[in-house]
Amino acid sequence: MSGETAKLNAFPVFMRVEGRRVTIVGGGEEALAKARLMAQSSAEIVVVAEAPETALVEWASANGVAIVREAYEAGHLDGAALVFAATGDEASDGAVVADARTRSIPVNAVDRPELCDFFTPALVNRAPVAVAIGTEGAGPILAQMLRAAIDRMLPPSLGRLAALAAAYRDRVETSVPKGAARRRFWKSFFTGAASRAIARCDEASARNAAEGLLSNNGVETGHIALVGAGPGAEDLLTLRAQRLLMEADVIVHDALVPEAVVAMGRRDAERIHAGKRKGCHSKTQAEINELLVELGRAGKRVVRLKSGDPLVFGRAGEEMSALRDAGISYEVVPGITAAFAAAADFELPLTLRGVASSMVFTTGHDLKGRALPDWAKLAISGATVAVYMGRSTAAEVAGRLQDAGLSPDTAVAVVENASLGNRRLAHGTLADLPALSERDDMTGPVLTIIGDAVAGANFDRSEPLAAHKRAAVHV
Ligand code: SAH
Repeated sequence: MSGETAKLNAFPVFMRVEGRRVTIVGGGEEALAKARLMAQSSAEIVVVAEAPETALVEWASANGVAIVREAYEAGHLDGAALVFAATGDEASDGAVVADARTRSIPVNAVDRPELCDFFTPALVNRAPVAVAIGTEGAGPILAQMLRAAIDRMLPPSLGRLAALAAAYRDRVETSVPKGAARRRFWKSFFTGAASRAIARCDEASARNAAEGLLSNNGVETGHIALVGAGPGAEDLLTLRAQRLLMEADVIVHDALVPEAVVAMGRRDAERIHAGKRKGCHSKTQAEINELLVELGRAGKRVVRLKSGDPLVFGRAGEEMSALRDAGISYEVVPGITAAFAAAADFELPLTLRGVASSMVFTTGHDLKGRALPDWAKLAISGATVAVYMGRSTAAEVAGRLQDAGLSPDTAVAVVENASLGNRRLAHGTLADLPALSERDDMTGPVLTIIGDAVAGANFDRSEPLAAHKRAAVHV
């Protein structure tokens, strides 16, 4: 085998169609599919069909596309830049192909690759940016899969950003020296403050950011993204989180974020473990705040990766306030919080018509003194309560809720390692909950859900929470 890459039999080019006509011959599904594809361009589309199907007629009128309702004849192709033979009939398509070739117009015959002068790609459209995927007809499904994967990678605002880049091109060429500085300018432009402003549809700030880059040769200012990593499963990360991880210079992550998620970041990004696991030595919150401020001042693009959602028991408030005080730009990217992952694992409706119409996110940690926690009242009135960090305080939580008047029979669901392959589910009642603090076998993060709505969960894969009940089951 030679090391050479195989040659393409169909070479991709981008054809200028602005102000030109594309003629599609056919009145059915095939014609509609090609018309839809071409409508992503600014070409003038003309459909020739004597008896077009309703779907095509409706689509054409909604999209300002003309239908010539006449029996096809060769003259219909005059003046077209491209032709599609989409009649669904072999002989008719063959005739259209022959007529187009007589006129030297490139032609595509739908589903007849042997008759095609060109193929249409699977298209990711972020106009003016386009990614076209072709397989020379070998794998249309493969092309669609690639299209979907690339579509997920590219931010929706990419087109607007590219259009702004075009507006700056001349000025960059005259004022930023060619080579490293210019590369730095464009890299900062496409991933930095200008790009973030465009994503928020704030064009004025984007222009400001671009002006800033012009005046300092593309040196970007630092930025911290407080990013929710979700409950642990890699594919519960958001697309935005993944994109930011790919662009980060530095990733500062907590102990609860699994290695597999951190590994989704740019390979050469610096990784800093901020710790924060109960009982382990780790940086203090003040040290973390300071670290983020320093990294921001050093001009780094930082992802501060937190488990679940960064604004739920994530101490993001303190980090944001430190960044604000230091004048460092930051953003927050939401993530799937542990309560949602745990509920999904249990198929547990957090709100249930006529049973539970509110929801409490709370922690077992703040139970000081004998006073009833303020959320106990909500639990009585039917809220579903999600308890974070509640293993060691399970007995206190159960006691306080019963003191407040909640029935000991209230249903309780516990999930360890929600969303992960090694997840474990347990269920019982409020009276059983104290047993959780004694379960030394549960060493992963644990989330507890309490309330009448829990009774609607699926207990098929769940074990009893209390030891005596477990023993009874095994007898
Ligand atoms: N910001 C996070 C919560 C951080 S506090 C979020 O929104 O999910 C840490 C607590 O979250 C843990 O003690 C545990 O109660 C819960 N937790 C986080 N990940 C979890 C998981 N995969 N399964 C169960 N509980 C989890």
